[in-house]
Amino acid sequence: MAIDATRPYDPDNIFAKILRGEIPNKTVYEDEWALAFHDINPAAPTHILVIPKGAYVSWDDFSARGSNEEIGGFVRAVGHVARALDLVAPGYRLLANVGGHAGQEVPHLHVHLFGGRPLGPMLA
Ligand code: C5P
Repeated sequence: MAIDATRPYDPDNIFAKILRGEIPNKTVYEDEWALAFHDINPAAPTHILVIPKGAYVSWDDFSARGSNEEIGGFVRAVGHVARALDLVAPGYRLLANVGGHAGQEVPHLHVHLFGGRPLGPMLA
């Protein structure tokens, strides 16, 4: 069930629980700004989710309320993960679903990082 991206932040969402260490995850990278872990239902050979440490529902919420420091730190973390996994030369895809039409299911901002095979044309 897709979420309404205008809803208030729910501190009991599953990614908030992962950030608090209440639910296990397969971490690939963590710093002050972000946590990156393997998606439990991978759609590509490499499918990583990168989430900010702060409480943001979606890309919309983050871009509106996030500090420049948080946004900069998060964007750098996403780039770091891609480089650390040697995805730059073969190429990779970033995707952030926002709300109903995009099918966002978890109400904590996450960027999907896909790689490991040719990904085909972007779906509209
Ligand atoms: O962008 P969207 O909200 O649809 O994506 C949520 C993603 O979170 C899914 O790809 C799902 O497999 C993943 N997920 C996860 N671990 C969980 C719950 C969801 O990796 N515990």
